[in-house]
Amino acid sequence: MIVILKQNASQERIDALMQSIRAQGVDIHFSRGTQETLLGLVGDTTHVDEDWLRANDIVADVRRVSEPYKLANRRFHPQDSLIPASNTVIGEGHFAVIAGPCSVESEEQLLCVAQAVKASGATLLRGGAFKPRTSPYSFQGLENRGLELLRLARQATGLPIVTEIMSETQLDDFADVDVIQVGARNMQNFRLLKELGHCKKPILLKRGLSSTIEELLMSAEYILAGGNENVILCERGIRTFEKMIRNNLDISAVPIIKQKSHLPVIIDPSHAAGIAWMVEPLARTAIAAGADGLMIEVHNNPKCALCDGAQSLDPVQFDHLMQDVRRRVAFEGKQLG
Ligand code: PEP
Ligand code: MN
Repeated sequence: MIVILKQNASQERIDALMQSIRAQGVDIHFSRGTQETLLGLVGDTTHVDEDWLRANDIVADVRRVSEPYKLANRRFHPQDSLIPASNTVIGEGHFAVIAGPCSVESEEQLLCVAQAVKASGATLLRGGAFKPRTSPYSFQGLENRGLELLRLARQATGLPIVTEIMSETQLDDFADVDVIQVGARNMQNFRLLKELGHCKKPILLKRGLSSTIEELLMSAEYILAGGNENVILCERGIRTFEKMIRNNLDISAVPIIKQKSHLPVIIDPSHAAGIAWMVEPLARTAIAAGADGLMIEVHNNPKCALCDGAQSLDPVQFDHLMQDVRRRVAFEGKQLG
């Protein structure tokens, strides 16, 4: 339920109204925009009397929100969200480029890639330390040593680091990670999402392989409901009957999510394509569709990568892509970082 307040409502009257709504066991998300001041009522609002609200002379209108996601809903928060991530921001016209290897493999590899992507204009560094692999016999990541190397690469380049968490038991180890990634396979790990709601860190939430957009928004809702407003959504391709490409990039997710939600949406063309040469055309499409950023896998020697080499760009290919990205981002009236 959304209560739209009159523009001339005094803070004293707003506070009094909020207090009597809260007394009915409902949480309130307060949003003061340039056009409207809103109270977003969260929880079981079935017993909140619309006529009682309308009778209050600071109330301009009352609307029921039929979608199950409330805090993620644009109707609760009409302005785009701007997510701070260390020395950069994501959303509201600030375009992020998160680049780096699929997995952290060695100090030499990570520093080489980190320096290259920084020089080409990436705004954040990615790298998996804990890898969710389909096979238990595949490389599982350098784990805590991988996190150490990411810190080292951050020190060397100044780029904030983005890395994937697998379980809520790792939160202490992720304390100085700048953006915590929740991978596609963990999008509905509700215990993890709840714990991430209790920290203030930016969370990059990837869409599950077979999840609907509404399910993605409901997973974001878990994090927001815990009190963490810093959620970035990521479309990385979904499973369909198509076999020629690794995943089908659902580009329509961008405009529909931007219409339904205030959260930034980025595109990961690497995991969608599965093939390096397709990353650039998909990235172009993402920018044109209104995405707030890209996540791109880059490896110094893709042929020898321990994970996802086929879809990884080498530093030269990434630099080429970035020259194009820069132009297109400016054309959209956005800025890099
Ligand atoms: C990744 O970013 O390396 C990754 C494992 O992605 P996803 O969860 O989208 O498969
Ligand atoms: Mn990968």
